[in-house]
Amino acid sequence: MPRAPWQQRIQVGGFNPFSTIDWPGKLAAVVFLRGCPWRCGYCHNPELQTRLGPAPIAWEEVEAQLIRRRGFIDGVVFSGGEPTADRALPEAISRVRELGYAVGLHTGGAYPERLEALLPQLDWVGFDLKTDPARYETVTGVAGSGGRAWASAQRIASSGVAHEFRMTFHPQLVAPAAALRAAHAARTLGVEHFALQTFRARECISPALSRDARIPPSLADVLGVLFPRFTLRGAC
Ligand code: SF4
Repeated sequence: MPRAPWQQRIQVGGFNPFSTIDWPGKLAAVVFLRGCPWRCGYCHNPELQTRLGPAPIAWEEVEAQLIRRRGFIDGVVFSGGEPTADRALPEAISRVRELGYAVGLHTGGAYPERLEALLPQLDWVGFDLKTDPARYETVTGVAGSGGRAWASAQRIASSGVAHEFRMTFHPQLVAPAAALRAAHAARTLGVEHFALQTFRARECISPALSRDARIPPSLADVLGVLFPRFTLRGAC
């Protein structure tokens, strides 16, 4: 069968056929799409930031694996990179739904308008909240990223789609006070499920962040009271 144009364009950089950690409470396959406009110092998938060169994995391969796993997994999570950077994502989501799977999305919210258009097709969103809006550039290295991320945060929080906001803590990038301000702002939007993730130096390319970071117990205590559902976990 000839490949549809979107199947030729989509840039799949990785595929995990079975994950218990990428969609809380669900068994999921994870499709990693290439491309991200941001350059976070703690990025654990830096090889997925670029879209240069041919896609390492063909969509047909992903689809064949998903068909084989029917009955064994609940859903499919699109992750990255920043999956909304890939303009073929809407078609890929529709195809995955046709195969009978629920669909989740990991996003940092770099493209709020694209995200808004996708939300009606999604069953769950894991939103990577970096810090409070004024400090975003410190983490992402990109001016204006805070405004875009928070525009996405608002859209997710008001969408009615199940979601989790999660933040990776590293004191060199996110001071406890900034983490607290961001968490309060998320709670004001109505976010109920918040996860605080430990930074993991392994796999991080930035030499300036070569040590694991410890989450201050007082920060975890405050967030545990602030959110109806609070999770403390290792970095994703
Ligand atoms: S937004 Fe995510 S994928 Fe992009 S650089 Fe930051 S951590 Fe990496």
